[in-house]
Parts: sequence; structure tokens; C-alpha cells
Amino acid sequence: MRQETKCIEAGYQPKNGESRMIPIVQSTTFKYDTSEDMGKLFDLEAEGYFYTRLQNPTNDMVAAKLAALEGGSAAMLTSSGQAANFFAVFNIAQAGDHIIASTSIYGGTFNLFNVTMRRMGIDFTFVNPDCTNEELEAAFKPNTKAVFGETIANPALIVFDIERFADVAHKHGVPLIVDNTFATPINCRPFEWGADIVTHSTTKYLDGHDATVGGAIIDSGKFDWMAHKEKFPGLCTPDESYHGITYVEKFGNEKAFITKATAQLMRDLGSIPSPMNSYLLNLGIESLAVRIQRHCENAQKVAEFLESNPAVSYVTYPGLKNDRYYELAQKYLPNGSCGVISFGVKGGRKGAEEFMKHLKLAIIATHVADAHTCVLHPASSTHRQMTDEELLAGGVNPDMIRFSVGIENVEDIIEDLSQALEKSQL
Ligand SMILES: *Cc1c(COP(=O)(O)O)cnc(C)c1O
Repeated sequence: MRQETKCIEAGYQPKNGESRMIPIVQSTTFKYDTSEDMGKLFDLEAEGYFYTRLQNPTNDMVAAKLAALEGGSAAMLTSSGQAANFFAVFNIAQAGDHIIASTSIYGGTFNLFNVTMRRMGIDFTFVNPDCTNEELEAAFKPNTKAVFGETIANPALIVFDIERFADVAHKHGVPLIVDNTFATPINCRPFEWGADIVTHSTTKYLDGHDATVGGAIIDSGKFDWMAHKEKFPGLCTPDESYHGITYVEKFGNEKAFITKATAQLMRDLGSIPSPMNSYLLNLGIESLAVRIQRHCENAQKVAEFLESNPAVSYVTYPGLKNDRYYELAQKYLPNGSCGVISFGVKGGRKGAEEFMKHLKLAIIATHVADAHTCVLHPASSTHRQMTDEELLAGGVNPDMIRFSVGIENVEDIIEDLSQALEKSQL
């Protein structure tokens, strides 16, 4: 099946007389005839469901669709993108370990790594995604367990050189984890470039309609854990909390990572999505391929319009020929990058505030990457307590607008931008 077809068909094929749509199994628990039957499930000897905190059929059908879309061997859903990134890293790193991450990642992920996971005793080194291979090599320590980056960084719109980072990670015997939220598997499949684990905030384009918060982890199944046994004892030596199972031996490279994350992390931390939310996510994914194409077409036209508008001081969009990341985008995202653009309004913080005041169609929201065009001016909202100097030191321009292009008619979006930009300069 091709990607467009997988969006509709993968993960669930109804048998004769079964429901056309995936069933919502809204049940906490499952019934068994004998306690021996249930015991086999607890021992991971048989496949099946016993409690929704660990696994649920609706969630698994949607996870299987995402595994197919990314070309992976196994997948799991989580209750948020934050939980997905936390689990993906925590599944192979513990107190005393070290992770290398790109500096250009979502702010929530940066805080999770730099504050919360540091408190748990995991050390992080952040590297510029444009660093040389020598600089990247220098960040490795004997206790490094993974490298982490984002295909297209939110909100910096920096394209991550997946192949280069994967090669260096593999040279040091560790996997590359890539957050593929902004590109989606329609525009980029990081496994094809050597990534080992992919994560998503499904809250964004995958759901696409502002309906559900969620996350996902997908494993390529290709990383050879046993070849680096001493680095990954959690996967390669017996788990005493599961009757001495060694995940890689019992489930192979294809299923070990996701089985361990389910059996240990979901069991103990419980960040499962509600089956109803997974149903809604599936509905969103059905139209993903057509929506993404429209987001990218619209964003390209909006970016070109902004570039030629006299009230705009700069535009950042990897689809523009003179963008710093145009070449990398041509390599990794030949069919389009995403619908998010950032740009500056002449007149600094004040000009940007005026522009925001006059928008009519674009809604002001702390969100990106969904069907509705939405806009945020960090300097007057999420970062409003900071002075211009503090903002610049943190890499945020006071005049910077983050604009997430939706799938409305692009002429309406451009008309709205045009009138608001004109009024911003009066
Ligand atoms: C939004 C986002 C997250 C966090 O996801 P939530 O679903 O909000 O928890 C992680 N990574 C990226 C790239 C995001 O855009």
C-alpha cells in the first residue's frame, strides 16, 4: 500500500460483517475463562488484553496504522507528545546515563530534558543541529545512550540532517530518536534515512482538527541492541519485574523496544490515551495525506506573498529558495515541509502587536499544525514577561510572528494577512 492508502486502510481490516470503522473498545478490563488464561498474558506468554492501562484494542489499531505509515515494526500510542518523548528516552536511559539532543527542539521537550529528566539523574548535552561531525563526536561520553532531534524543529523551522546524525550515532553504538511531528510520515519517513525510533505529538497534523492531545512512539525494528549489550541492559538482560524475561531474546529487535515500554513504562507510569481519543485520532489520520498536501501548497503561497510584502522584515520557511534550510528540505522533504511559517513585522514588538490586532480570519491560539489558520506573537503572549534584550538572547525576535497556515482557501488567508500588515504600518 502507498501512504495515501495506508492512511485509510492500515491497522484494521474488518472481517465479514464487522464494523467498517475501528471499534471503540471503551472498557477498562477484559474477561477470561480461567486464571491460567490470564496468567499467560501477565507473563507475556500469550497475546491479548487484560487492562487498558497497558494495552487496548482501539489504541493498538491506530498504533498499527502509524507503524505502517512510518515503515516501522511496532508502535504504541501515549496520552500526549510529551509522554511519547519521555518514554522514548526513558526506555533506554536511567540515572547515570547521558543523552545528546539537538538545541532546536520543541520548548516543552527541551524543558522535559533539561529540567525534569535531569532531576531524575539523566544528563543531557545539547548540540547545534548545524554543528560539524567533529563537534557532534565530541559530545559523546561512555554513558551516552541515544541522540535526539526533530525533523523540522518547532518553532525554529530548522531541518535536521537525519542521515548525518544517524551515521554518527551508529558509529557510537546508540540509536537516533527523531520527533517527526511537523513533517508527518507523509512528507518524511526518518527510518529511510537511518533513524531508529520515531516519536510524534499526534496533537498536531495527525489529529489535525484541534480535537485530541496525544502522542506515539514507533520503532524501526532495525537497531541491533544485542550488539551493544552493555549499553542497554534493560533490553538485553532479564527483567526481574517480568519473571526474568529478556526483551530482545523473547521479542526480537522488531518488538523488544515497544514491548518493554508497554510492560514497564505504561504499567508503572500510565500515560495511555482514552480509546475514544484514539478513534478521533484515527479519523484525523484518514485525511492526513490530502490535508498535508494542502497545508504545504497554502504555506508555500503564503510564504512567497510575505517575502514580497513591504511590511515584512524576514520570512523563515524551508520551502523558500533562499531559506537557510532549503537544500536540506529538498533532500528530506521533497514534497513539502509543513504549514508553519515564521516572519517579522516591521516596527518591532509594536508593529507585530498592531498586526495581530487587525487579523480577522487567523485565530490567536497557543497551537500550530491543524486545519485552522492560527497565529501567535510570542513577545506579547507566551514570552510577554521578557524584555526585548532577554528575548533576543533567547533566540526570539520581538517582532517574530509564528503563523500556522490552515487548509482554508489560500486567497482568504492572504487577504487577511495583507490587510493586517497594511494597518500595522499606519
Ligand atoms: C507539541 C509538540 C510536542 C508535545 O506534544 P503534546 O501533544 O503537546 O504533549 C512535542 N514535540 C513537538 C515537535 C511538538 O510540536
